[in-house]
Amino acid sequence: MKGRVVLKSGKDVSLLRRHPWIFSGAIKKMDANIANGDLVNVFDNKDNLLATGHYQAGTIAVRILSFDNTDTDQDFWNKRIANALEIRRTLCIAECKDTNVYRLVNAEGDSLPGLIIDYYNGHAVIQLHSVGMYKNLDSIVPALKKVYGKNLVGIFNKSESTLPFQTKTDKSNGYLLGNAEDTIVQENGLSFKVNWTKGQKTGFFIDQRENRKLLQEYSFGKDVLNMFCYTGGFSVYALKGGAKLVHSVDSSAEAVELVNENIALNFKDSKHEAFEADAFKYLHDIKDRYDIIILDPPAFAKHQKVLHNALQGYKRLNQKALEQLKPGGILFTFSCSQAVSKENFRKSVFAASANAKRNIRILNQLSQPSDHPVSIYHPEGEYLKGLVLYVE
Ligand code: SAH
Repeated sequence: MKGRVVLKSGKDVSLLRRHPWIFSGAIKKMDANIANGDLVNVFDNKDNLLATGHYQAGTIAVRILSFDNTDTDQDFWNKRIANALEIRRTLCIAECKDTNVYRLVNAEGDSLPGLIIDYYNGHAVIQLHSVGMYKNLDSIVPALKKVYGKNLVGIFNKSESTLPFQTKTDKSNGYLLGNAEDTIVQENGLSFKVNWTKGQKTGFFIDQRENRKLLQEYSFGKDVLNMFCYTGGFSVYALKGGAKLVHSVDSSAEAVELVNENIALNFKDSKHEAFEADAFKYLHDIKDRYDIIILDPPAFAKHQKVLHNALQGYKRLNQKALEQLKPGGILFTFSCSQAVSKENFRKSVFAASANAKRNIRILNQLSQPSDHPVSIYHPEGEYLKGLVLYVE
């Protein structure tokens, strides 16, 4: 028997609109024995069953798995994960000739709130964001093995920094199949080394795949600055596109090492140099040196409370770049902060443009690729926003 969570009168509206979160303030009463991570049934104030989800003490109290009464037996996990893979096959991302790196499960976007799984050339990296998903790891792993069969040689659980503190155990990071800590992946025919044990997030920023490809198209004969380069994804694509020169900058020494390694994997000799430097300092005086600048900073706002400072940060950063691009130059600018909406990001870049006092046109409006789907009922899932600007 699942525990029962009953909502206050009128607090069922968002569930009826299939939004997958129930906030703690919406709950009228719940069974006393419900523990973190338990599967619960959610009822409206008149005792109508609305949904099934994982309970967890906190602002988001229930993460919804289905809008009916569902049991999360092995068959449930098998079906959800098989469905996620089927979608990636349909998108020609999974089992594709030139690419063997993609996001298999994108949390709410794949009706599995709290679960991220990235696939790197035969290795799955799991990131658990909720106690409910943590408690079901023993079902998720067989489901993964079942859908991939021999196409899966490694599984690594990388959840130490994403699980709530009460579930941090020696089980929150570790190998669940094989023991490889890195591999070389192919993305659009280009090679990248991905190390999930040492790298940021699950090891690679898969979400920029299509945006990197677009940069490749713009890069012929250009001098390119890839700011916040990390593994150098944008740098490799710019060189592939025929850039005259590429400079990669990151404040982390490991990132500088990684970008050099990835350039060497793809090109015998190249017009590339990487620098360990702070973005704001580097951008201080680069007047007219670059035709294209990419700004892909880490999330400036992790939550709503720091939104104002984050928007100011985006404005300052973009202004510095816009002031110094060569006439006729192009800026690729991104925000991956979930708390920053598309409109707010655009407003910051508009303010930066006005301060830079240059004529600027929007060429492209970018977001996350189709292996990072967004539930239409959960706009919060659309976290990556980008603009490509032509600067006269
Ligand atoms: N563009 C990358 C992902 C960027 S992640 C890709 O396509 O893979 C953000 C990067 O910004 C991290 O590598 C981090 O080390 C770097 N970073 C954070 N603060 C910085 C700063 N002040 N100056 C330069 N780099 C910074």
